[in-house]
Amino acid sequence: MKSSTVFAEYVDLLSKHENTFECVQKAIELLWDSYQIARLEMTFQVPPNVFTPDGINTGGSFAMPGQVADEQLVFKKNYTTGEGGIVNVDLYRGYGCEAWNESEEVDLDMILNILFFHCGRFRLIQQISNSMLTDVVTGIPNTQGFLKRVEKVYEQDNITKYNSFCFNLKRFGLINRKFGKQEADDIICRYARLLLAFIDKDEYIGRLGGDNFVALIKKEKTEEFIRFLSGAATYGMLGEQQSTVILSATAGIYEIDDSISDCERVISNGAMALSIARNITKQPYVYFTTELNERVNNEKKILGSFTQALKDREFQVYYQPKVKTDTYHLIGAEALVRWYRNDKLISPCEFIPIIERDGSICNLDFYVLDQVCRDLREWLDSGVEPVRVSVNFSRKHLSNPEFANKIQNLLNQYHIDPKYIEVEVTETTDEEEQGLLSAFVNRMKDSQIAVSIDDFGTGYSSLNILRTFPVEILKIDKSFIDQGTDEETDRIVLSNIIHMAKQLNMDVVSEGVENWNQVEFLHDMECYIVQGFLFDKPMPKGDFEQRIQNKQYDITQIVDYAE
Ligand code: C2E
Ligand code: MG
Ligand code: MG
Repeated sequence: MKSSTVFAEYVDLLSKHENTFECVQKAIELLWDSYQIARLEMTFQVPPNVFTPDGINTGGSFAMPGQVADEQLVFKKNYTTGEGGIVNVDLYRGYGCEAWNESEEVDLDMILNILFFHCGRFRLIQQISNSMLTDVVTGIPNTQGFLKRVEKVYEQDNITKYNSFCFNLKRFGLINRKFGKQEADDIICRYARLLLAFIDKDEYIGRLGGDNFVALIKKEKTEEFIRFLSGAATYGMLGEQQSTVILSATAGIYEIDDSISDCERVISNGAMALSIARNITKQPYVYFTTELNERVNNEKKILGSFTQALKDREFQVYYQPKVKTDTYHLIGAEALVRWYRNDKLISPCEFIPIIERDGSICNLDFYVLDQVCRDLREWLDSGVEPVRVSVNFSRKHLSNPEFANKIQNLLNQYHIDPKYIEVEVTETTDEEEQGLLSAFVNRMKDSQIAVSIDDFGTGYSSLNILRTFPVEILKIDKSFIDQGTDEETDRIVLSNIIHMAKQLNMDVVSEGVENWNQVEFLHDMECYIVQGFLFDKPMPKGDFEQRIQNKQYDITQIVDYAE
């Protein structure tokens, strides 16, 4: 070794730099005095492989400033990389110098070995960081990789040129089952290629995992991208057979504007709109809005506090009387839940749809039934004859095989005769649910617990329900009598529903009765049970106790809401 200090400096130089290419120039200058290398040429070829799907074909030429290379005096070396690639390095000595002697060539050999080693180290670091940012299945950026690109756009102040899309492939579960996991992965890969072919150089895509993707698309291409998402054709292999697959996606779109606070919003706002599109509106795409944001935050707040609120018994059961209009007699009541949070009332319309989606409604419904059973027990024990109380149950219960048993068990626990309880469920169009509902209604019939169909007329399966289920009571939705008193067609429909229900031995209760006109109209239709503000609003237990002590209404005291 000519100079061990130069050599040590050379090793130090290469080990401190992450990018070997960047420091070769410096290395040549460092080695000049000892070895007079005037030029270094390197070619680097690696065939496509898992880490570098497009392979590598690169090279570089580095020269000692102010020196000319002697094309005759060359020292050549080649290496094979781990993936079967080839690296060629040629060193040219400065013009006017003598050829390298044997001992110098040993040194050059060592110098190039060290260079090759560091090139490998550099590539390995690059591959590891790339693989952390790349989705293994498709080779497109993963969440982190996508965010890195978004950050670049953000730093360049260009982010508002774009809309972001979070999208989920429809029915991909079906494709998985039909083609198998391996082929489904290949289909996802092909889809990613279609996306790559769609986007421009300054647009970006990423795979968030599974069949969820994200894209940053220029605003002017929004419509075009929505069309792409509505159906992109690729194929899947079933054995030897090629089968066409049209992939369409549901999307959440975030129109990025100056209010964007951080890059992650590009994904999270899109994802929020996507979840609304998938779970609530069931539309192909939904735009993110601040109202949506507030709504989702409100939902989160409600879901976040619900469980503790239930433990803390923040829910109260109110009773709304049902009245017989031929005698003005109290004949039943509906239990309606009220949520008092920090002395403020949250309407069931506000929180029930939310806890229904997440399934927590089931706990609330049983909490209400439990409270109703306790109240009934108390009234019975004190010698007051109560009326039958109906309790609302979400259809979410239907998939629980223990649903009917749980109701029965609560009644047993409080020794409540089934004649005092009625279960209200809403109608359904879903065939599977109808099967479950039918089984449930039959179970209730065996236990002599009455079942009513709530909001009858607002769903679409109404007549089918009359035919198939042994329900005892129909509750006609308020919307029917709101319009029904005037419109001739509504009148005919309603009167037929009521007559049909009667012929099938069902009781009919009309909800939302607010004035005498409606009572009269219902009388004409021969519907004599009503529930509504005309007689009473839902009331706390204490007030309702007075009603059950004296079940007769004094109609001279009744305020007509129409007046
Ligand atoms: P629903 O079961 O159809 O209950 C009737 C709703 O109509 C009640 O609203 C009641 O206060 C209201 N209402 C009664 N008479 C009149 C009237 O004359 N005029 C008007 N404008 N409204 C009237 P509420 O108590 O706000 O409950 C809304 C819905 O929330 C209920 O509709 C029911 O679907 C649900 N809900 C309430 N409590 C429970 C519960 O414990 N479990 C479940 N699953 N759902 C419940
Ligand atoms: Mg109800
Ligand atoms: Mg109702």
